[in-house]
Amino acid sequence: MSTIFQKIIDKEIPANIVYEDSEFLAFHDINPVAKIHILVIPKKEIRNLDEATEEDALLLGKLQLVLEKIARDLGIAKDGYRVITNINGNGGQEVFHIHYHLLGGEKIGVLNK
Ligand code: 5GP
Repeated sequence: MSTIFQKIIDKEIPANIVYEDSEFLAFHDINPVAKIHILVIPKKEIRNLDEATEEDALLLGKLQLVLEKIARDLGIAKDGYRVITNINGNGGQEVFHIHYHLLGGEKIGVLNK
């Protein structure tokens, strides 16, 4: 079944997009938990890291560099930022299309349960 992120990729629902190329899309989280909270996703439908395969190695490697480029373009790279990906129930994953939270623009606190 198609996720909400697939609908954003397909432009069926709007999002505040900050970066797009043929393989990736990045947009502001609708419910930000930091001054800057961007979600970065590959357009390929992968459920989460647990479902990624060797075939996805190059794509996921490039995704790291997209995260870094976005942080730099937003001017938060030097001060620092955090990248998180949630996996399944214990990880708190709600949308089952792999995505990376890019959090910054302020000091990101310690994770608490
Ligand atoms: P997860 O908990 O799966 O790691 O994170 C899903 C994230 O997607 C949440 O931070 C949530 O706020 C965000 N989100 C859910 N639905 C939408 C939406 O329709 N648009 C945007 N921009 N973000 C969404």
